[in-house]
Parts: sequence; C-alpha cells; structure tokens
Amino acid sequence: SPALLWLRRDLRLADNPALHAAIERGGPVIPVWILDPVAEATGAAHRWRMEGSLRALARDLEGLGARLILRRGAALDVLRDLAKETGADAVLWNRLYDGPARARDEAVKSALRSDGLEARSFNGALLHEPWTVETGQGGPYKVYTPYWRAVAERVVHEPIAAPSRWPSPQGWPASDALDAWGMAADMRRGAPVLAERVEIGERAALQRLAAFLEEDLRAYAEERDRPDREATSGLSHHLAVGEISPRQIWAATQPRRQGAVAKPAQKFLQELVWREFAYHLLHHSPEMATDNWRPEWSAFPWREDGEAAEAWRRGRTGIEAVDAAMRELFVTGRMHNRFRMIAANYLTKHMLVHWKVGEAWFRDTLVDWDPASNALGWQWVAGSGPDAAPYFRVFNPQTQAEKFDPDGVYRDRFIAEGRAKPHADALAFFEAAPRAWGLSPGDRYPDKPIVGLKEGRQQALDAYQDWKSRR
Ligand code: FAD
Repeated sequence: SPALLWLRRDLRLADNPALHAAIERGGPVIPVWILDPVAEATGAAHRWRMEGSLRALARDLEGLGARLILRRGAALDVLRDLAKETGADAVLWNRLYDGPARARDEAVKSALRSDGLEARSFNGALLHEPWTVETGQGGPYKVYTPYWRAVAERVVHEPIAAPSRWPSPQGWPASDALDAWGMAADMRRGAPVLAERVEIGERAALQRLAAFLEEDLRAYAEERDRPDREATSGLSHHLAVGEISPRQIWAATQPRRQGAVAKPAQKFLQELVWREFAYHLLHHSPEMATDNWRPEWSAFPWREDGEAAEAWRRGRTGIEAVDAAMRELFVTGRMHNRFRMIAANYLTKHMLVHWKVGEAWFRDTLVDWDPASNALGWQWVAGSGPDAAPYFRVFNPQTQAEKFDPDGVYRDRFIAEGRAKPHADALAFFEAAPRAWGLSPGDRYPDKPIVGLKEGRQQALDAYQDWKSRR
C-alpha cells in the first residue's frame, strides 16, 4: 500500500530520510504538504519563502512524474482523510523541534498509530539529534564551546542520494492550488523586491554551497564579519525550509578540514554547529522561543513595544549602522550576522526594549527565520540566554561600523537619504516598506539618534546595576 510522505520544513529530494524510508517500503509514495494552524502561525516572510519553495519542489517532483499534494486543515484530519482516500497504511516525516510543531507531531503520531497506521519520524534537520549529545555528567550542554568539542569529530551520517525514479500511485489524490492559498498575501508589497534577490529551491541551494566552497570559503575566517564582502555562505534561508540539509553541508566541507582551507573550513563548520546548538537548547527548553531562558530576566525593566521600537523597525533610529541593517532586512529578507548583533544590541541596550519585540519583528521579516537560531540569537544578545554575552557588554554601533564597514559601503548600500546617487538597494527599501509608513528617499535622515550612544550606554548600565541590586 502507499505511504504518505508528510513534508514540512524539509522541501528537498536529496538527503531526505523520511522520503528514503518511504521508498524503501516498496509501495507508492504520496508527498503531501499541509497548511495547518502551526504552519499558518509563522511570519509573513517565512510563508512567502515557503510558497516559493513549495513551487520549486512541485516542479522537481513533476520532473520525476510525481505530484506534490497540498491540503489545508488540521494535520491529523488531513492525514486521516488522505489515508482513507488513497489506502495508505503509513505516514512518514522528518522531525521538527520547536514546541508547537512537537506538540502537534506527538499527538498526530499517537492518533495515527491508534488508527492502526504506521507512523514514523526521522532526523532530516540536524547533524545529531539533540538528545544524543550529553555532557560528561549526563544532561544537555548549556555552553557552546564544550558542545562544539563534543561534536567536532563525531561521525555524521553520509547524505542520502536523491531518488532517480518515483514510485507513483495508480492515481493521485486531489490537491489544493498553491496560488489560492495566498501564503504571500501579507507580503504583497515587499514580495517583488524580495523575489529579485532570493534564489529559491533545492538546486539553487546545492549550487550556492558548491560556489561558496570553491570561491568564498578561503576568505571566510577573516571576512565573515564584513557585510561589504559577501563572504558568508548565504545558505541560512535554504536551511530554513530544508532545501538543503546540514549533513550535506558537513559532508561537502569535511574534506576541506585538511590542507589549504583547513582554518576557514573549521570556522564555517563551527558556525553551522551554532545552529545545532540552538536546536539542542530549544529541544531541552522549548519555552526559550518565547521566554527568558534565565527567568530572573523577567524582572528587568524592559520597555514595551511603542514609538521608539517602531522607529527601529522602520530603519529610522538615526544610527546609520542600525538603520542600514534594518533596511537590509526589508530589502533582502536577511541581515548580515554582525549587523544582526549590532541592531539587536542597540534595541535591547541603548533603547532598553524587550528582546521579544525584536525577535517578533525578525520572525515576521526574515526569509531565513529559524525558531531555534532566532530565539538563541536574541537571548544571546540580550544576556537572558544560555552562554549569552553579558548584558553590560554594550556594543557601540559607531565603532562596530568603523571596524566592520570601514569604507561605509554597507551603509551606503542601504541608506538613501543624503546620498547624491543612492544605491538601487537603498531605493528598493522604499518600494518594499509599507506605504503606511509614509517614507520616501527624499526624506531627511534623522538629525539626531533616537537614543544617543553615550546616554544610551549609561542608561543600559544603570538599569542593569539597579536590576542586579534588587535580585
Ligand atoms: P554562514 O556564516 O555562512 O554560516 C553557515 C550556517 O551556519 C548558517 O546558514 C546558519 O545555519 C549557521 N549559523 C551561522 N551563524 C549562526 C548563529 N549565530 N546562530 C545559529 N546558526 C548560525 N539565523 C537563522 O538561520 N535564522 C534566524 O532566524 C536567525 N536569527 C538571528 C537573530 C539574531 C539576533 C542573531 C544575532 C543571529 C540570528 N541568526 C539567525 C544567526 C545568523 O545571523 C545567521 O544564521 C547568518 O547570518 C546566516 O547567514 P549565512 O547563511 O551566510 O551564514
């Protein structure tokens, strides 16, 4: 009998363990993607990115004579209906690790099993399952460096090749039309700008990996903090929807850990392992997606969302390094890692705004949104997370910009105001930003920062001291 392959954030044919197991069963395989309440609750940019990825996967499946079945509704109901319609006796999927997905998947698994169906899940998203990496005392790691040491030399499964033939059923069940779902509806204004800048699909992901390893890896260690150099892999948005697996990245990089590019190769794998570490933490503390990992931070005098935070979101703080970063986010759906840290630092330190406000904005606007890395990134900057930067480490965005964007190339690329010949990407920001914001490239750039650097730093340190003395 057929097996249902329940796809989620694993939209690829190569190195897809659930797909592989479904084919191994010997019967037909029916791939299905479900727009359920968990998938609908994701951010606008992620849903836009997902829609593109579904389109690309559907095309790749067509090339093999297969169809991607799209359905909307509660996942369990849809899977039960499909099993009835097709006579499928198995449902296979790759695991997710965030709280809402896990709660859903556990309920689905036990319900399907009690229906008498085979329901099995696999690891398609991580190098190592979170529970397989333990400290000497047993239990999870809370600090990155020992976590890295624990996995640096661990054997990683070889990636599985993509199927060359698809075991199709006699007939295909009905599918919804992707366009009718309107997954990108909330993105209508920004989508055309993004579409020009984001390569989508499994093939694009593999090509990007190959190009990065061939051309860019050698300078990665020195230049990865430079937003004017395009020195990083740019793979995060492919990973976010599973167009590529970390095992494929690990396997392709592995041979380079010896020889001329050993140092940058090691550095690159260490960054990839930050993603693993984030999932390790999220698995063991799912509440970290929404709450301070260190509960004492609930008593910190965070400021709520409001006008100041809105200026931050719109790239109008008057601090060029911060504003360039916030506009890069809007135009490309991404933000350079160094400038994520700078923008997040300014919000949570100088402005004293709760990291959750920033986390929510990134969740809505990043095409590489990842529940584990976003939560960890924000809590790392804010000081409320495990292995976090201490709160009193207040970045000076000006000094940071002088160091990492010494010629102002990045700031010129994303800020139009006051430039005689603004960069196309700086102008694209005004295309992408909501009309309601009423921004135009002819506006004056803010005369002074929303919070001055010296004053903001002092304010942050005072708040910290005060909070500490009350603990
Ligand atoms: P590369 O430097 O080429 O790194 C390769 C891969 O390693 C990345 O694709 C990513 O999967 C992983 N990686 C690298 N740095 C980190 C890191 N610090 N934490 C976790 N994984 C990492 N990353 C996301 O993928 N999604 C997010 O939602 C996200 N939110 C963040 C929020 C904040 C406040 C901060 C400070 C960081 C956040 N990051 C997030 C991490 C990091 O900024 C991005 O992974 C990185 O910029 C992606 O670019 P790249 O693929 O070119 O990275």
